[in-house]
Amino acid sequence: MKPPRFDYHDPTTLAEALALLAGHGDAARVLAGGQSLMPMLNFRLARPGHVIDVNRLDALATLSPGPDAGLRIGALVRQRTLERSTLIRERCPLIAQAMPLVGHPQIRTRGTLGGSLAHADPAAELPAVMVALGARLTVQSARGPRTVPAESFFVAALTTALGRDELLTEIALPAWPARTGSSLQEVAIRRGDFALGGVAATLTLDAEGRVAGARIVCFGVGPCPVRAADAERSLVGGAPSVSGFAAAGQLASAGVDPDADIHASAAYRKRLVGVLTTRALAESLASLGERAA
Ligand SMILES: Cc1cc2nc3c(=O)[nH]c(=O)nc-3n(C[C@H](O)[C@H](O)[C@H](O)COP(=O)(O)OP(=O)(O)OC[C@H]3O[C@@H](n4cnc5c(N)ncnc54)[C@H](O)[C@@H]3O)c2cc1C
Repeated sequence: MKPPRFDYHDPTTLAEALALLAGHGDAARVLAGGQSLMPMLNFRLARPGHVIDVNRLDALATLSPGPDAGLRIGALVRQRTLERSTLIRERCPLIAQAMPLVGHPQIRTRGTLGGSLAHADPAAELPAVMVALGARLTVQSARGPRTVPAESFFVAALTTALGRDELLTEIALPAWPARTGSSLQEVAIRRGDFALGGVAATLTLDAEGRVAGARIVCFGVGPCPVRAADAERSLVGGAPSVSGFAAAGQLASAGVDPDADIHASAAYRKRLVGVLTTRALAESLASLGERAA
């Protein structure tokens, strides 16, 4: 099917893009990598009167070290760039671990970080990763910029805190804490498919080797990324152990209320969260050893 008729705009400056969004508001959709928007247009699931192509906004396509050893990633940075970046591998290994699981190479070559976050598919990896990392998202409109923590950016399935006249412009990540390992675990029917369920985790040890902190975020099992706060708390202060990770898995599983669909039952997804949390924590611990080596 072909998309419905729309007016196409390709602004070359951020100010021009924001003016177009201010002017066309509800009738406009931003086009980034097009990997989700184009299918939605072709299936007539979206019928915007105006498409604002932001691909000429080069300033939004930069990846750079942030203050205090963090990272600043422009919303238009391609998923493939994240996958191949040495800076990402060194400063934020969880993103590097997630990238090969996002669709296929062709999709990642066009798809952007900002597009994945703005689209907010419940089964997408990057929203969960951003919540696990405590990312801060900069959104801008003609009214000015504002910052939204990743944890409050995802509001419902395919719905974010973005206003109709707002553009997601940058994602800021804090410095990777010392003695921190990470892992992203998921199960999909075929490689490259959206996951039936998944877990993004980080595990931080203190100087004595006890757990100083953990972040566990589940995806594909609710409308938005689900933080497993009880599971995180259960680990803190103890020595990392197989039994502790299994107990955290049970708590994470108890904390989700997934839906069933044609691919998997709710009970399967709930159980999956337990297994994947346990595995993600064990892999996080293992990756910590690899980083130290
Ligand atoms: C076959 C297939 C398999 C896939 N598998 C996966 C997968 O396993 N995991 C996964 O996470 N994703 C998957 N995707 C989706 C892919 O990652 C997309 O790249 C991503 O969801 C959207 O990014 P995009 O840059 O293409 O955005 P677009 O398609 O251009 O836009 C998506 C939405 O976000 C809005 N938007 C985009 N950028 C901005 C911005 N800067 N500010 C405000 N709004 C914006 C658009 O208006 C639109 O509503 C798959 C896609 C396909 C086609």
